Amino acid sequence: MTLTHTSPLLEGTVMKSAGGFYHVDIPEEGPKREPLLCTLGGRLKKGKRQFAQPVSVGDRVRVREVESSGANREGVAAREGFIEEVLPRTSQLGRARYNKTAQVTVANLDQVVIVMAAREPDLNTHRLDRFLVLAEANDLRAVICFNKIDLLKKKQLKKEIEPLAKTYEKIGYPVILTSAEKELDFGRKELRRELKNHISAFIGSSGVGKSSLVMMIQPELELWVGEVMDIGKGRHTTTDVTLHPLDKGGYIADTPGVKTIQLLEQSQLALDQCFPEMRPFLGACKFNDCTHRNEPGCAVVAAKE
Ligand code: GDP
Ligand code: ZN
Repeated sequence: MTLTHTSPLLEGTVMKSAGGFYHVDIPEEGPKREPLLCTLGGRLKKGKRQFAQPVSVGDRVRVREVESSGANREGVAAREGFIEEVLPRTSQLGRARYNKTAQVTVANLDQVVIVMAAREPDLNTHRLDRFLVLAEANDLRAVICFNKIDLLKKKQLKKEIEPLAKTYEKIGYPVILTSAEKELDFGRKELRRELKNHISAFIGSSGVGKSSLVMMIQPELELWVGEVMDIGKGRHTTTDVTLHPLDKGGYIADTPGVKTIQLLEQSQLALDQCFPEMRPFLGACKFNDCTHRNEPGCAVVAAKE
């Protein structure tokens, strides 16, 4: 087969950007597929740019395969192509840079899996709520994972974790109880189901079991999974996000060597909008500019009680 400029456009997802190449995954080519190493087609190189990079990891793109120049990658001639078109993004996470175009670190991320350990470290609901606010603030679907449940006695599970899971499920969040302990693989099926066809990031404090869970889902993905901490402090420079394809469809976003998938600061939006369970009450306070702290006639405080 000779590939020319008239070869058909393929639709794929940018998994990685490195050494001037975008690695584009073409899911419809099936489980044994190989990504295309792409550069930008002519049209994309020109034109006014809204972002520092015209293409970012996570972007859905249309690519045209061209004959391989024989560039070697682990002894195999890699497939090559041009990115001809970037499809509209449903989301973009990144940083606004003073006096510069915004830097998008990952496009189309649509879900975070918030991992909390039931023990080691002890479950901290305040932290969980903070992660949930961040997810809402960034318009990301959130899945809650209570991990290390093997460290609990049956009684503790019943008394502590199950009621908590119910509380969050009632708000509308999927809650999965998991154990990444090898002999158990508890909650694997449920987690896989939630990840399917999403671009997800695992977030949570260090040591809660994020990497272990990712390996439980797909053992060949030995990756470092990011921690979301110190959000928005501007301490982290670039976030070279990589997407790892999942067997059943979808991707896990990972930031090797860097601390975070950059989420917006919660101060950047109306905080009260970030608690879905409180939304029905927001219009019902006595004062229009109610901060829901200590005003009389506050419907949110009443609902909370
Ligand atoms: P990460 O920092 O969030 O990626 O956490 P890791 O996946 O590196 O796990 C931290 C530690 O917790 C490791 O020693 C894991 O073996 C352990 N761990 C992870 N998941 C579980 C679990 O479900 N049960 C138990 N008992 N230990 C776990
Ligand atoms: Zn109020």
